[in-house]
Amino acid sequence: MRQNIVAGNWKMNKTLQEGIDLAKEVNQKAGNTTLNCKVVLGTPFIHITEAVKAVDKNRVSISAQNCADKESGAYTGEVSAAMVKSTGAEYVILGHSERRAYYGENEAILKEKTDLALKNELKPIFCIGEVLSERESEKHFEVVKKQVEESLFHLSTEEFSNIVLAYEPVWAIGTGKTATTEQAQEMHAFIRNLVAEKYGKETAENVSILYGGSCKPDNAKELFSNPDVDGGLIGGASLKADDFMGIIDAF
Ligand code: PEP
Repeated sequence: MRQNIVAGNWKMNKTLQEGIDLAKEVNQKAGNTTLNCKVVLGTPFIHITEAVKAVDKNRVSISAQNCADKESGAYTGEVSAAMVKSTGAEYVILGHSERRAYYGENEAILKEKTDLALKNELKPIFCIGEVLSERESEKHFEVVKKQVEESLFHLSTEEFSNIVLAYEPVWAIGTGKTATTEQAQEMHAFIRNLVAEKYGKETAENVSILYGGSCKPDNAKELFSNPDVDGGLIGGASLKADDFMGIIDAF
């Protein structure tokens, strides 16, 4: 059975103290409701250790937002997958469109990062999605196929079973524009079918595919009602505990 997941991506927001307060608030609110999904907080690197301490790991899991594409050594400013793992984080967001656009992360780099994350027993939340011009020129399926194939399809079936996918149409991230429920379902079904062709039906049925892009408490229920949408990767709305809980409660 695949898991429903709601994962927050705080991006470069919150001081350490603000982040601890938010993690504690989400943890407390998650304890006061029946959770029908896994809850993950994607915090900046420096918050992770304290965020891990601030939450009950049976309720809330912690994720990094990135890790290095190198194992260790002279890579000033980088943070390795092993370092992330040693903090108690369970997940790592990889391939976010902001990393692809602003930091030049391509399929080959993301393949290295994925391998290192898995080697260090972190679960990648692997982001894929097209930009507006690609959707308008009807290249969105082709783009997403390439992203998945070139960064992930070298993995064994066992390795792939640790991957969470996040479809994030770039034109919907932080813009207030959401993919329609039909657009989301169409792409999620396409991705699941790609996985089925490569790894078989069982693996495809078990992979969680999250939607990301201006997901809010008032549209989450409709998005999550699609048969192939297994939750959300949430940017802006994860920065306020009540908004984030509103999305969690959509399950
Ligand atoms: C994201 O950055 O992954 C995201 C989905 O952002 P937002 O929810 O703000 O659109």
